[in-house]
Amino acid sequence: VWEDCLDFLKTQVGEQSFKTWFEPIKPLHLSDKTLTIQVPSQFFYEYLEEHYVHLLRQCIHKELGPEGKLEYSVIVDSGSVQNQPYMVTLPNNNNQKSNGWNKEVKVNEVSNPFEMPSLDENARYSNLNPNYNFENYIEGDCNRLARSAGIAVAEKPGITSFNPLMIYGGVGLGKTHLVQAIGNKIGSEGKKNFVLYVSSEKFTTQFTDAIKNNNIQSFTNFYLQVDTLIIDDVQFFSGKEKTQEMFFHIFNHLHQNGKQIIMSSDRAPRDLKGLQDRLLSRFKWGLTADLQMPDFETRMAIIMRKMQSDGIYIPDDVVEYLAYSVDTNVRELEGVLISLIAHATLNKTDINLELAKQTLKNIVHDIESEVGIDYIQKSVGEYFQISVDDLKDKTRKKEIVIARQVAMFLCKEYTNHSLKSIGYHFGGRDHSTVIHAVQSVSDMIDIDQKFAHSIDELKKKMRMKQV
Ligand code: ADP
Ligand code: MG
Repeated sequence: VWEDCLDFLKTQVGEQSFKTWFEPIKPLHLSDKTLTIQVPSQFFYEYLEEHYVHLLRQCIHKELGPEGKLEYSVIVDSGSVQNQPYMVTLPNNNNQKSNGWNKEVKVNEVSNPFEMPSLDENARYSNLNPNYNFENYIEGDCNRLARSAGIAVAEKPGITSFNPLMIYGGVGLGKTHLVQAIGNKIGSEGKKNFVLYVSSEKFTTQFTDAIKNNNIQSFTNFYLQVDTLIIDDVQFFSGKEKTQEMFFHIFNHLHQNGKQIIMSSDRAPRDLKGLQDRLLSRFKWGLTADLQMPDFETRMAIIMRKMQSDGIYIPDDVVEYLAYSVDTNVRELEGVLISLIAHATLNKTDINLELAKQTLKNIVHDIESEVGIDYIQKSVGEYFQISVDDLKDKTRKKEIVIARQVAMFLCKEYTNHSLKSIGYHFGGRDHSTVIHAVQSVSDMIDIDQKFAHSIDELKKKMRMKQV
């Protein structure tokens, strides 16, 4: 009977899927109207149920008539820690999915003919870099929630409601550092907890290889034993349907069994294009926390921490200068710092402001070396948290009008543009508007201390920029 079923299934699914999901099945016995098949694992069973239940039903009914039943016998690896959960989840699954389809699941303790774990030697280890820890992960407003959620998760993996924990943020803002710090902390507390860090890219490659080598069984077995799974850069799963499917199943399985899942992504889940909705909705089960670009103070702290750990000294004004100037991301900030040290060592000179400006000019191409209208608009926009478009727009909202006037004022002071040209760059306003703006800002500086302080900060930023 099973042979006939296989013949039928072969015509219905792709060769690869057939090899992966149907060839490993063994028919055990047929009694009355019930066919019992042996599947290699609980995971395997779940996968079949999720993806092939219709086909299986079809062929059983075809072979045994409408009364036909299919029974699964799931091999349980008795040495494995997963033993318990398998036994526990089975009856539930059975009840949930019994809608009219005659099917029973029995768990038989059979010794496992499939070789267990280990994808490759490396995968036995956690892939964690011990240099990423919480001690050297500077805290700031930019990462407070993510960081403390990370610590909570590290203290009680799988137990807090932060499961999954999803960290998102732009490139170089510290995602990998943070998720690895969590993994390292779990490891360091001597918990019996198998932590695995893997980039979604690597996961994808492993999965594709496993399919190619007909090794999907060890792939899934391996992932299902993980206690804390850290998947970095999940945006990479975008558009990879099969990989997402596999990840979805692993995710569910681990989550159901109280295992911790930690993920990172370069954007918020809602902005992740090309990921299946069911996966995205899972991501939102736990906690989603973002990482922002650190503010000036935090950038200072990051630089000083780095100096301390590398045992180098950099004068205060240079630290300030770097913290001011590099406002793209932390990786770039570190990059500038490293080349600055390299320059100083090579040229046997001291690190000073001059050298820092020179270094920055050479390596950060997209930072304009002069204060221009664009730079002022961008800086003022950031400072007041207003978009550059709004600065140029017609909006008459008070905050925007003030920010716009400040930007015009700074353009007058720091560029050689004529009033006419400045007006032109602010949505085609005329020169009298610019004169009025400059006058209002000067007046406000005189009467409003807080405002005067803001202008000072912005001016400082402009001066830092000038080489
Ligand atoms: P991402 O994975 O988001 O691209 P990384 O985690 O690789 O970013 O971080 C880039 C660099 O910046 C790393 O060297 C990291 O150690 C450092 N870094 C990022 N955030 C911080 C922070 N808050 N404190 C200290 N170093 C940080
Ligand atoms: Mg990263």
